Amino acid sequence: MAGGRNYYKEVSDAFLERRKAAEAHCDRLRAEVYASVPEVRKVDILLAQTGAKLFVASSQGGDVEGAVAKIKEETARLRNRRGELLRGAGYPEDYTDMKYRCEKCRDSGFVGLDMCECMKSDIAEARLADSDMGPLAAVQSFDNFSLDYYSGENRRAAEYNLNALRGFAESFDAKSGESWLLVGDTGLGKTHLSTALGVTVIRRGYDVVYKSVQGMIDDFEAEQFHGADPDIIRKYYDCDLLIIDDLGVEMSTQFSISCIYNVINTRMNARRSCVFSTNLTQKELREKYADRITSRLFGSYKPLIFSGVDVRRQKLSK
Ligand SMILES: [Zn+2]
Repeated sequence: MAGGRNYYKEVSDAFLERRKAAEAHCDRLRAEVYASVPEVRKVDILLAQTGAKLFVASSQGGDVEGAVAKIKEETARLRNRRGELLRGAGYPEDYTDMKYRCEKCRDSGFVGLDMCECMKSDIAEARLADSDMGPLAAVQSFDNFSLDYYSGENRRAAEYNLNALRGFAESFDAKSGESWLLVGDTGLGKTHLSTALGVTVIRRGYDVVYKSVQGMIDDFEAEQFHGADPDIIRKYYDCDLLIIDDLGVEMSTQFSISCIYNVINTRMNARRSCVFSTNLTQKELREKYADRITSRLFGSYKPLIFSGVDVRRQKLSK
């Protein structure tokens, strides 16, 4: 994910562009119709005066209602006539009308002062396409997380993990500070459920960052040592939900440990949710990380234990 991208601005610019293009398209269609059926232009000129006529009628006093009714009648007649003319020339009646992708906001992106669902959804998809989940997002969902690869106790654990993370995703609250630690060997569904979680929360309109721990540390190094824009790291502190994959695979240095600590601590103090997944056991985590990290991970994060037989290997052997 690039640092500091303003998805709202990108999407609202795209809305404006699309509207401009649609208006230009309508202008061309109208010009085409005027050229072949000149009377339509005359009708359009009369129709364009409707607002002014209504204004004059209502400000003149006297029988306002009667005058307004007459104007409305005339307008309806003109609209009918326009339709007839178009049909007569072989055009559909709405040939020159704006065709909106979203009727609710007429492609403005807003209904009154509220952002329309269509714009929210475009922002979510832009975030998603730009996130590390991009390619996995299409194939890893809660719905297609199969419990068939697990049996007995492992299956119960997998089902518990699925339900826990699905519940968390579907009722996600950016101010809850609820955080999770996903523990277990490779190939037991941690990445699948993390992706499903991220995608669900993004689609609900939240700002989600999904990164491998190495990817996150690379960003901090770029900012600290190579002059990258501070925006590149700000998202790790500020996003609504941070999902960090593969804690423990990174090269451990003073710097990496302080990055991880700062992220965990800052987010905890701000009550922002965080999800870490790791292949390391509790003992290995304690060996690798300073106590100030593990005490927070074990003390405040809810653990989910993944156990069983590598799903990827099971799929390959089928
Ligand atoms: Zn809309």
